[in-house]
Amino acid sequence: MTEKYTYDLSEGDASMKPLLGGKGAGVAEMTRLGVPVPDGFTVTTQACVETMRNGGEWPQGLREQIDDALTRFEQRVGRTLGASTNPLLVSVRSGAVVSMPGMMDTILNLGISDDSVGAIAEESGNERFAWDCYRRFIQMYGEVVEGLSGHAYEDALTAMKQRRGVGLDTELSAEDLKELTAEFKKISNEQLGGEWPSDPREQLFRAVEAVFRSWQNPRAKVYRKANHIPDDLGTAVNIMQMVFGNRGETSATGVCFTRNPSTGEKALYGEFLTNAQGEDVVAGIRTPRPLEEMEQVLPKAYRELVDTMHTMESHYRDMQDMEFTIENGALYMLQTRNGKRTAAAALKVAADLVSEGLIDKEEAVRRIEPEQLDQLLHPAIDPSNTAKPITKGLPASPGAAVGAAVFDADTAAQKGSSGESVVLIRFETTPDDIHGVLQSQGVLTAHGGMTSHAAVVARGFGKPCVAGATEIKIDTEAKTLTVGGKVVHEGDTITLNGSTGEVFDEALTLIPPRMNEDFLKVVGWADEIRELGVEANADNGPDAAKARELGAEGIGLCRTEHMFFGEDRLPAMHEMILAGSDEERQTALDKILPMQQSDFEAIFTAMKGLPVTVRLLDPPLHEFMPDLVSQALKVQEMELKGADEQDLATERQLLAQVKKLHEQNPMLGTRGCRLGMLYPQIPEMQARAIVRAALAVLEREGETVELQIMIPLVHLRQELATQREIVVRAADDELAKAGKELAYRVGTMIELPRAALVADQIAECADFFSFGTNDLTQTTLGISRDDAENGFLGWYEAQGVVKRDPFQTIDVDGVGQLVEMGTRKGRAANPKLSVGVCGEHGGDPDSIAFFQQIGLDYVSCSPYRVPIARFAAAKAKL
Ligand code: PEP
Ligand code: MG
Repeated sequence: MTEKYTYDLSEGDASMKPLLGGKGAGVAEMTRLGVPVPDGFTVTTQACVETMRNGGEWPQGLREQIDDALTRFEQRVGRTLGASTNPLLVSVRSGAVVSMPGMMDTILNLGISDDSVGAIAEESGNERFAWDCYRRFIQMYGEVVEGLSGHAYEDALTAMKQRRGVGLDTELSAEDLKELTAEFKKISNEQLGGEWPSDPREQLFRAVEAVFRSWQNPRAKVYRKANHIPDDLGTAVNIMQMVFGNRGETSATGVCFTRNPSTGEKALYGEFLTNAQGEDVVAGIRTPRPLEEMEQVLPKAYRELVDTMHTMESHYRDMQDMEFTIENGALYMLQTRNGKRTAAAALKVAADLVSEGLIDKEEAVRRIEPEQLDQLLHPAIDPSNTAKPITKGLPASPGAAVGAAVFDADTAAQKGSSGESVVLIRFETTPDDIHGVLQSQGVLTAHGGMTSHAAVVARGFGKPCVAGATEIKIDTEAKTLTVGGKVVHEGDTITLNGSTGEVFDEALTLIPPRMNEDFLKVVGWADEIRELGVEANADNGPDAAKARELGAEGIGLCRTEHMFFGEDRLPAMHEMILAGSDEERQTALDKILPMQQSDFEAIFTAMKGLPVTVRLLDPPLHEFMPDLVSQALKVQEMELKGADEQDLATERQLLAQVKKLHEQNPMLGTRGCRLGMLYPQIPEMQARAIVRAALAVLEREGETVELQIMIPLVHLRQELATQREIVVRAADDELAKAGKELAYRVGTMIELPRAALVADQIAECADFFSFGTNDLTQTTLGISRDDAENGFLGWYEAQGVVKRDPFQTIDVDGVGQLVEMGTRKGRAANPKLSVGVCGEHGGDPDSIAFFQQIGLDYVSCSPYRVPIARFAAAKAKL
């Protein structure tokens, strides 16, 4: 039996989203609930998936099923597609499982033809309307389905307006539009090199095909990649009866949200345009009016709409984003979906829905996208700023953005990805600009409303956006923005305030973000749910304090190497490295010890009462030395200049040492505990500094940290046994000398495959394991972590050879297996062993889900990812 590829709206419901897509399932559910929705049917995502698999060929039976579904549809509404009496016009819209606003294609007014246009004019009593629909259809069908260029149509429209001496499309008469339609047909046929299919059924098949194809268009691919949406889901296609918002002043079209998607406030939020079609609002071509004004213009439809908004929100128990059309005073809902929102809005809506009794705390946490919280950690403009804005637009997506003005998406993408801060300025953004939006600090548009694509997309990505700044004039050729006599050139710095809509022609000072009440409430619920501990990677006092403020329950990784890089420390480090004897080395280390101690004291003071894991020195010694080539050149130059013999001798000695330490593969060389094996005075000095710092903080603050000392890059049991002994001897000696008692634990990083394989042996000498998944990924995959994304791995990702960057999201099958096995073996040998992760994966929500699944005790990540990890850990538990 062939698969069922089409569903009438009455056959579906909300639970069928995977098959019918978000839009299809949404309209089916509204139909079921008795909300007014135009009739129609949906072609399943399965049909699209099979078409992609067959290299563009439709699966058997699809064409016949669409044909039958259309016939049933025609019978239900008593109309026929493209007929000369009672014609049916339809929209053909994409609708993926995960909403991808504006990324795929839509065809409106399909069914209008030479045969049906007369009947449409007659039925609507409006000839102008009929020809307006017809010319719009030809252009849309030509561009979307046949892939023709839109310029020729636009030029013909402009030329027509010039001939008639008018400025607006709406000023063209029925006759003008009729003439334009004929011209559009000619343009299409010329570009096609033949007649295009005039049979509306044939057009419908081709339109469905085009929507399937649009799943693969570049902007959809970029969007999916940015949102981690799998490439193989496919899109459904919704064929629905057209309703017209452009039938005159009692018709309208609009978009509304049941709550404010920027702030989450429970207030009516939306926009509408009378006498317009949906695309005019969504694409931001005309700047629409706020929804509240509709109460005056179309009171009955307004009340119905408000009721429907309430009904749908309580039905879905979530904020809805809805599209509607009013045709001659009658309201039709075209779409409802859970609205995209900023992180602040997500938290507020979740907290409010719990207090309104619509959802429970678990559900509230489940609905937070951990990644999205990153936005809350974005800076805002310093409120004491007194600069005057050069203009003001709509506050379309909150937050502040400072960057160089850029006037096209390609330049924004290119500059942004190379690390420059840019602000993308466009007349209006289209979905084709998405790659530029992603790489910009923020977006400014001259046109478009709060629900335009620029706004929706910016909010989704947490990019500040000011939309509809109508006073600005943009010259894309000259790359300038002009407003009130001021000119901003490409490269000039501007600042956007996406929360107020203000634009400044200078760089304003930003202040760090603050956690608000909603955040604290919802993250508190997450903390009640989660089992995984969340700690932070921090190696100085301010970072530690920040981590604590963001909810870190300890420091899971304090890298000590940066402490040696300071200008005041490097000379002592050089001395230590160049030392000719143990005594000389000890003298140098004695100079370093107090500096280390004061660094630790700052961290311990910030973290008192909580665990802090200090990792002993990891990088190879040559990292503290000058680079081989520059040192050789320096010596050569000094020789040529006849420099002082003593100075020359020092530099020559340094060069000799640099040569001695040089390694072809330093990442696989003398680093981590190997260094401590060769130079035991280093771990000894560090252990002493750590204990002294802990005691000093105890003395000063009356409280200190739970001390953990961690040995890096172990692969042999013997390494850990030796290093542990050095640390314990030094620590106990310090405690004895101070006459104090202090509990401390000694553990190791597991970051080499062998360490994971013999974790049982290593666990005998360890109080805890912390998986260093950065090195473990590097050494398991044999891919250099320093070159990864810029090398072949980036290409692999782009080609889909790998789905995710393994340095960001754990490679569950490979590296994950080692983590799981290492944990299991380690705990079997030492039941008291605690186990965590401190590589970058510790802050990645998908990896966190895996770490929860295999029962780790904690993750540790950079301070700003701590809130994300807290939510991810809770969601992983639910
Ligand atoms: C790791 O390798 O995962 C780790 C945390 O250590 P580092 O990044 O300092 O090598
Ligand atoms: Mg490492």
